[in-house]
Amino acid sequence: MKVKLWGTRGSIPAPGPETIRYGGNTSCVGVTLSDGSMLALDAGTGIRCLGLALPDEPARLHILLTHLHLDHIQGLVFFAPAFRPQTEIVIWGPASPEASLRDRIARYISAPLSPVEVRELPCDVSFRHCPESEWEIGSARIRAASVTHRGPTLGYRIDDGDSSLAYIPDHEPALGADLAQMDEDWISGFALARDASLLIHDGQYTDAEYPCHVGWGHSATSHALSFARRTGAERTLLFHHDPLHSDDQLDELGAAAQQQWVELGGDPGTLELAVERSEVELPARAAKAAAAV
Ligand SMILES: [Zn+2]
Ligand SMILES: [Zn+2]
Repeated sequence: MKVKLWGTRGSIPAPGPETIRYGGNTSCVGVTLSDGSMLALDAGTGIRCLGLALPDEPARLHILLTHLHLDHIQGLVFFAPAFRPQTEIVIWGPASPEASLRDRIARYISAPLSPVEVRELPCDVSFRHCPESEWEIGSARIRAASVTHRGPTLGYRIDDGDSSLAYIPDHEPALGADLAQMDEDWISGFALARDASLLIHDGQYTDAEYPCHVGWGHSATSHALSFARRTGAERTLLFHHDPLHSDDQLDELGAAAQQQWVELGGDPGTLELAVERSEVELPARAAKAAAAV
């Protein structure tokens, strides 16, 4: 499984010279499965460049939306494959008692916010509510579960061969909870991230900033680290960077996070800040066995 980060920012795009290293595009992660199937996790502004990087040939693409906040869907109408008749796009997302996924997304892809309507998109697009049980896409088993955020929000786990990716970009698991003491069954998102090869997790606020943002749906550094340690994820990327955080501030946040991580007993090489356009290859079973030898 190959993972590429096309947008690592949260809330709103933050382009400019002060965010050039970690990136200014909002949430989007491209995943290429071992059988070649292509998934996009969220469709923030980062999906625009993902779309430009895909070859112009018939394809079936899956977009897995965690939720419908604008920073996770804003790139949909700028995703080049959506304008090719030979492309099939399946958009997965959370169900809501209020309206179907298609109707909720159509509030954005319609006038006056958008020049095109969903029915005018040249591609073959379909919308599916994520099932409660696991399902398969290509060579992967996918699991979605509701997590603590504002409004109906999912986290995802993707198991492909022996590798697993947990993607929980907008998450406040410490809201009203002591992550160090709480029984694991009660921790939001725990089962998604348990022993994952790679965890991509919300790390929006510093510990000093968090008290002014309780209940906003995001994690302080120490919450993200406690969550990562409790779940036993092998490697963690702090993601959904605050738009107010410059590269220099993120360097400081990263250094403080490393220190806390080591104090929690973590291996310093297993925690990083997410960087736009960076790639991670998660080894398949045979490669893992060889590495262990
Ligand atoms: Zn977000
Ligand atoms: Zn959100």
